[in-house]
Amino acid sequence: MMAAGRFHPQSVSVSFEQGKWWISVEGVAAVFHPQRHSPKGRHTKSAGLDMGVRTLAVVADTDGDVLHVVKAVRSLQNAEQQLKRANQTLSRTKKGSNGRKRARARLTRIHARIANLRADVLHKASHWAATNLCRLTIEDLNVEGMKQLRALAKTVSDAGMAELRQQLTYKAGWYGLELVIADRWFASTKTCSGCSNVKAEMCLSERTYECHLCGLIIDRDVNAAINLARWPDNTMITPLAAAA
Ligand SMILES: [Zn+2]
Repeated sequence: MMAAGRFHPQSVSVSFEQGKWWISVEGVAAVFHPQRHSPKGRHTKSAGLDMGVRTLAVVADTDGDVLHVVKAVRSLQNAEQQLKRANQTLSRTKKGSNGRKRARARLTRIHARIANLRADVLHKASHWAATNLCRLTIEDLNVEGMKQLRALAKTVSDAGMAELRQQLTYKAGWYGLELVIADRWFASTKTCSGCSNVKAEMCLSERTYECHLCGLIIDRDVNAAINLARWPDNTMITPLAAAA
């Protein structure tokens, strides 16, 4: 941007934090993100994003087509394993020793790496959604409440649901995506995307949605994403190929 004359720096500061050098540049910039509000080349149907249990996120449209899947990231899982070991190493060192200093520095580096890896995958997902869709509905998740459920704790922290939602919110503004937050009480997981029947219970361990009314068998997260895509007008049910 500087080479193109679109950014004029006024001050630069250099700092050393968490084992890394940081350079902050302050100045005046032209619009960072060229407005791409045109719907050209975008998926025209309403889409829904389910921040899943099995995958990080699934995007599907009102027709039941899966448009995008954000998988859990292997490097992130590996880094979390490293974190566990680094914590154990730290607990075995003596207070004030050089060994403890080294172990602590290593822990800090791994924490920073995990934060970077997570931010990277979430930014890619939110950028894809903001630039490829016209209308996206997401769930109004009670993330704090979910964190209290032990079974989900890891998945939720991995997924960084709150972070993804925040990114989607500001990127929607940049790129002209219509972002819709579904009602907190909308049962996107328990509703059948084939016949709109609502199940009384759906365990966290049930990875597949099976409808006893219409016989639909579908991935849990895909089912939820389709329901979100159709929200609030869930009477707009079209027969799914999967149900045939
Ligand atoms: Zn059904």
